[in-house]
Amino acid sequence: MQEMKTRPSADQIQRAPKVLLHDHLDGGLRPSTVVELAERAGYRDLPTTDHSGIDQWFAGATTAGSLEEYLERFTHTVGVLQTPEALQRVAAECVEDLAEDGVVYAEIRYAPELSTQGGMAPDEVVEAILDGFRTGTERAAEAGNRIRVGLLLCAMRQESRSREIAELAVRYRDAGVVGFDIAGPEAGHPPTESLDAFEYLRRENFHFTIHAGEGFGLPSIWEAIQYCGAARLGHGVRIVDDISLEEDGTAKLGQLASFVRDRRIPLEMCPRSNVHTGTVPSLEEHPIGLLRRLHFRVTVNTDNRLMSQTSMSREFIELADLFGYTLDDLQWFTVNAMKSSFLPFDQRLALINEVIKPGYAALRSESLFGPLGGSGSIATGMG
Ligand SMILES: [Zn+2]
Repeated sequence: MQEMKTRPSADQIQRAPKVLLHDHLDGGLRPSTVVELAERAGYRDLPTTDHSGIDQWFAGATTAGSLEEYLERFTHTVGVLQTPEALQRVAAECVEDLAEDGVVYAEIRYAPELSTQGGMAPDEVVEAILDGFRTGTERAAEAGNRIRVGLLLCAMRQESRSREIAELAVRYRDAGVVGFDIAGPEAGHPPTESLDAFEYLRRENFHFTIHAGEGFGLPSIWEAIQYCGAARLGHGVRIVDDISLEEDGTAKLGQLASFVRDRRIPLEMCPRSNVHTGTVPSLEEHPIGLLRRLHFRVTVNTDNRLMSQTSMSREFIELADLFGYTLDDLQWFTVNAMKSSFLPFDQRLALINEVIKPGYAALRSESLFGPLGGSGSIATGMG
């Protein structure tokens, strides 16, 4: 069908239902909120307190060219996330911003241990975020945007508290925590350093993903899957190191790459972030093009919306521009993500069949009849 091949417009992409599995709470603050929270908390380390200045300073992360400069931004976002009120506000705004961008389901991650500098207990951190998610979801609904949000708890690789954080995640499993992850420097901190936590989680029948194959190569991915039992891979871009291309374009997969593809292990890919941290040289050269072509279970994510000046729409718009993706491709990424989420199976299925597929079908039909509704009305009910 010819109309399905049409390049989607930016407006259509914005209205398309989207699913986000990999997004850090401390990487997605509104710049103005950083300044206001800093003022309130007497935090004096911001490079500037001028609203447009801070905007530009955070945007500078996209041209930082080094991981260190990119990561420096987190010192300040984490610096202002040291009270329950700050966490609650940032969590609520995160949900509102995602819903406004057309995200219908999101898993947001955060490491509670980052917010204990001011004396908060890890439990309080989790409760404040979940509280913020509830507020944000309600406000989004009032604005006509429907969204579901779950929390993933991260343990910082370098802190050796992964077992404790894993237990915390399990304690809150019925309250909105849907999974676990480890974040922080991959090199020097292989996934097996946290093996005890992952074995515990498996005994508890709990879900987890692992950041692997971003800052370090194949051994990190191999350990994450074969030793730790990760259900998904955070980034996983370096899996391409196990794929060789013949002269005629045919791909030869090594054993690990085959395993990842055969088992349908989801790759939480974050294209813009990978460019900004120097993991890949440019979006054009991002392995997502090849991996999508080879039918790995690829998902598209934002990682850090503030530092990478991005959103789900922006990621999709740029990928559609560069790789010629159609609405069908974007639906494929979205269904992949929904299938791979840590939500119960029946709910995943309902979101796919009742929200995602009808949403894309409605957008495709626009090429037949012209845009639905009119100025600003939400004729599809998708928001
Ligand atoms: Zn990440």
